[in-house]
Amino acid sequence: MLDVERIRADFPILSRTMNGHPLVYLDSAATSQKPRAVIDALVRYYETTNANVHRGVYRLAEEATQEYESARTKVAAFIHAPSPAGVIFVRNATEAINLVARAWGDRNIHEGDEILVTAMEHHSNLVPWHLLARRTGARIRAVPIDGDGRLDMAALDVLLNQRTRLVAVTHVSNVLGTINPIAEIARRTHAVGAALLVDGAQSVPHMPIDVTSLGADFLAFSGHKMLGPTGVGVLVVQPDRYDQMDPFLGGGEMIREVTLMSSTYADPPWRFEAGTPNIAGVIALGAAVDYLRGVGMEAIAQHGLVMGAQARALLSAVPGLTLLGPPPGPFATGGVATFTIDNVHPHDIAAALDAKGIAVRAGHHCCQPLMARLGLPATTRASFYLYNTEAEVEQLASALSEVARTYSPSKSVASMTPDGVAAGSAAPDDEFFREVVLDHYLHPAGREPVDGPVVEWHGKNPLCGDEVTLRLKTEDGRIAGLQVVGHGCSISVASGSMLADRLEGRTLDEARRLLRGVKAMFRGEPLPADLDIGDLAALRGVKDLPVRVKCALLAWTTLEEALDTPPGSPQEPHDHDHS
Ligand code: PLP
Repeated sequence: MLDVERIRADFPILSRTMNGHPLVYLDSAATSQKPRAVIDALVRYYETTNANVHRGVYRLAEEATQEYESARTKVAAFIHAPSPAGVIFVRNATEAINLVARAWGDRNIHEGDEILVTAMEHHSNLVPWHLLARRTGARIRAVPIDGDGRLDMAALDVLLNQRTRLVAVTHVSNVLGTINPIAEIARRTHAVGAALLVDGAQSVPHMPIDVTSLGADFLAFSGHKMLGPTGVGVLVVQPDRYDQMDPFLGGGEMIREVTLMSSTYADPPWRFEAGTPNIAGVIALGAAVDYLRGVGMEAIAQHGLVMGAQARALLSAVPGLTLLGPPPGPFATGGVATFTIDNVHPHDIAAALDAKGIAVRAGHHCCQPLMARLGLPATTRASFYLYNTEAEVEQLASALSEVARTYSPSKSVASMTPDGVAAGSAAPDDEFFREVVLDHYLHPAGREPVDGPVVEWHGKNPLCGDEVTLRLKTEDGRIAGLQVVGHGCSISVASGSMLADRLEGRTLDEARRLLRGVKAMFRGEPLPADLDIGDLAALRGVKDLPVRVKCALLAWTTLEEALDTPPGSPQEPHDHDHS
């Protein structure tokens, strides 16, 4: 059992308040908080040891080099790498995977070869392979998941074949918490002669890892998710893969000898660490590893299971709430609880929780293919770490019950609780905001069909999956009909409803003027004194929330495109990313 109260005292940020409430930080899967020991290591380095590494022939530089290399030894021991030479410091897990795609992939993957990924990968473990496939003519294939959010191992067997060169799989899903059976996947991967890359971004921080017994040829992870600073990540490479890799970035530090015409390269790992590295970050990551080992990775993993089990028990009692992924146990860490609530958009859930000081993540979590597989545009995710308490999970559950009640279709706007708001921190004290936005959200205008020749335009915010379709009918320079349909968070739907409300019957010039005014308002610019924006004034506070500005603008940028389109012209078949 962890002494969570003692651990919490090591994390200065956890004593903050947020929107008048104690901070409840439930977004560690995005980035973890940092203990004092890590913050001190950063400051101490700059105050006492700052010098470039591997270069200076003076005492200070030797000390810096020694601390930097000692962090490498700590990280190697932490994940049981065969040798520190297999530990390459990079910026983050994303860079680690890109390094493999370039340094190993460009040399070893050819036209017609296959790269096997899974349906639950983070974009970081998909896009580098898409780019590699484009460069080489290789083919991407994907292992599906079953209805419980676990990998379909039978499909893996079908997909693995003599053309498979690489299997790139996450150890733990950042959305579902699923633990993939890496050792078994490694056995099957190696049986067809392919290499295995494991994305350890969500496993290394949360459980004991032995990279060799896992059978991973490459293991990628980020320092900032395991109590370390941002800007430092790790790629672990098994020694027998080094000779299959070309250098990635060229420059200082990674060379043996350079002439004007050619160069030879240093031994690994320095061959892959071109230029001055993030010295302070690496040393502070060493301090994070010390901290995690001091607490004990077994105990941390156990705490995740307890948090996850408690979250599942309490959250499943929230009306309309559906949890995704397998329950905590052998097949899931418990470190994440991802869910949907009927009739409530994840952005609205996150904003309402934020109003109570609870930080969670809402969106597609950089897993658009997984969201597509689940048939969901977005979800809400609470994620836990060693500093989270059972009391915090209780607060989460009770806040979610309130959210579910607030958005219950049977509820009238007048009876809504002041905190169960659509926009949370957009304007926490602004009653006008809440009432107007919720009223438009629950009873949107502009839903009636428009007949006759129309321009139809579709807009999408890929960040959260919000979508809107506008059908615009114009006659004699006026808007003779306007239908706004789609789905999204309260701000996005309310903004579309307000658009329909204000523009029906207006001239096209008036529509363009209002459009310019609304865009200016969301940039925080003053509006012309004679421009009447009606209910849209309720959205003024949204300008301070960049992510929600995209929600509020979706219908308007879609209108802008529709206004610029001659009647009868089809929309280009592509997503409109208004981000
Ligand atoms: N892989 C997984 C499973 C993740 O959850 C993340 C980040 O959320 C990443 C990769 C990318 O990590 P980073 O942004 O630190 O490169």
